[in-house]
Amino acid sequence: MARTTGELTGAEAARGALPSGARAAQAAQHERAPGGPGVNGGPLFDQRRRPLRDLRISVTDRCNFRCGYCMPRSVFGPGFEFLPARELLSFEEIARLSAVFVSLGVRKLRLTGGEPLVRRDLPELIRQLPKAPHLDLALTTNGSLLAPHAEALAKAGLERVTVSLDSLDDATFRRMNDAQIPVQTVLDAIAVARAVGLSVKINAVIQRGVNDGGLLDLVRHFREHGLVLRLIEYMDVGNSNGWRHSQVLSAREMLERIDAVFPLESIESSYPGEVARRYRFRDGSGEIGMIASVTQPFCGDCSRGRLSAQGSLYTCLFASEGHDLRALLRSGQTDDEIAKRITQVWQARADAYSEQRGAPLVKLSRRPKIEMSYIGG
Ligand code: SF4
Repeated sequence: MARTTGELTGAEAARGALPSGARAAQAAQHERAPGGPGVNGGPLFDQRRRPLRDLRISVTDRCNFRCGYCMPRSVFGPGFEFLPARELLSFEEIARLSAVFVSLGVRKLRLTGGEPLVRRDLPELIRQLPKAPHLDLALTTNGSLLAPHAEALAKAGLERVTVSLDSLDDATFRRMNDAQIPVQTVLDAIAVARAVGLSVKINAVIQRGVNDGGLLDLVRHFREHGLVLRLIEYMDVGNSNGWRHSQVLSAREMLERIDAVFPLESIESSYPGEVARRYRFRDGSGEIGMIASVTQPFCGDCSRGRLSAQGSLYTCLFASEGHDLRALLRSGQTDDEIAKRITQVWQARADAYSEQRGAPLVKLSRRPKIEMSYIGG
């Protein structure tokens, strides 16, 4: 792809160079926005002075699992029409947008889906993404396709994977993924990922009455294997999962159950805006994270933008509408112009869905939301 005058290579972005349009957009913001950018090309700020630091990039809307809380088979069954290939951003388009986001202050790129590994040649995308010492590159996956690709992903420059695994009980896991994937496939993939040098964390969504009976087994297993497990409250993502508050097992209750067997103490976050609250085992055998998005919302620190597989920018996991960046790419706009558009979108952002979820006068649950499989979790 031809490089526009304002376009940055990953290395230029890494040095903090900005396309001229991005500089202009930041300078304009500095005067007008509630937060504006930091000095010397610092991050963009939204209406609540939250910086744009993380970008989650969905590379596909497809997944080989049919988890009830994300892509229930009753909705995403054989007749469901997924996006045709021409609708997806190409790897070149993703890499180009990523470099623009990095030039605007993003410091973490996370590839997600759907299931990102159902898209072919993912290592090639990783090779094309910007690289820099301060830029964190990670992948979220269900782990079922990870083992054969782990080495190529690591060689291409991937550093970290977060593997979703909601139960160690094979029958429960198969019931939850609704695709007959055995739990051992994911455990084997975790071992392979570690062996090739990837840093691994585990995410588990805990749903009362579905998999909460295996909570302590998960904690015990990953504690013994020296991996950080992050436990996530069941959320009302998308419109398809029939979410009920009664199915939420609160972080507090999870902590009580764990602490009774494996005593815990809270510890500092690793960085501002970290989603998980951290707790370490008092016997020094590692730590766990709690993602309490329902009962203890963290919108105040939310620095995440989400790029859908179609190239729309969403400013919240629960947003109804995205902002079409693909149209800008495909109509020949320069990187400067795209940077200006991203700046406008972020500057106008005021999302705080999880804080407002319980508000009696706000009928949030009736508002159609983007499905999580389009923008990742
Ligand atoms: S609800 Fe939206 S704004 Fe709040 S933490 Fe989640 S993604 Fe961020």
